Amino acid sequence: MRRLGVFGGAFDPPHLMHRVLVETALEQLQLDRLQIVPTGQAWHKRRPLTDAAHRVAMAHLAFDDLPRVQIDTREIARSGPSYTVDTLRELRGEWPQAALFLIIGQDQAQALPSWHAWEQVVALATICVAGRADPTAAATGFQAPDGLRQRFLQLRLPLSDTSATDIRHRASSGQSIVPLVGEPVARYIVLHRLYQTT
Ligand code: ATP
Repeated sequence: MRRLGVFGGAFDPPHLMHRVLVETALEQLQLDRLQIVPTGQAWHKRRPLTDAAHRVAMAHLAFDDLPRVQIDTREIARSGPSYTVDTLRELRGEWPQAALFLIIGQDQAQALPSWHAWEQVVALATICVAGRADPTAAATGFQAPDGLRQRFLQLRLPLSDTSATDIRHRASSGQSIVPLVGEPVARYIVLHRLYQTT
């Protein structure tokens, strides 16, 4: 294992832009493996997340056919808030020789300095940022913090404003979400009556 990617998120639900990020990262970063890490307790999201078992099941439906990808449930198994730094430290312990690459969207990259032990996060992993179209049009391009520019790199991919928030709203108002999440995840959402209210 030489190049290990880490992609965390609520995945509530996972959507096709998450998939594009994963495929882009696998290819552009030449990863030997990519761990998809659904959040346990999201300290930075205000609303309660959908039950972890559902989010993990949807992640399997969304990503299992991709090569070199694993759904990693360690943050769900861990008690207390999910901190990326803990996940990276664990992976560093498991794979001492591997270079770690943390894949995040631009919104999360901008919020990174508010993360728990964020300097450790940047020390442990190269931060790979995916641009994200902002429907409010207020977004500016991502700027790496001073002095740390060499720890960041930009993934090349088309910008999209797809968000799980919008998908939950569409599902709750009975609109089709198949084009945004794909058939298997859309079917799962209907079967388990997820996102009936938002
Ligand atoms: P929500 O709308 O509930 O906040 P989300 O769509 O941002 O959810 P998350 O599961 O929170 O999805 O995101 C996981 C990771 O994927 C984050 O790093 C996020 O920035 C990134 N991401 C999600 N959607 C996009 C997108 N359209 N473009 C680029 N990055 C994205």
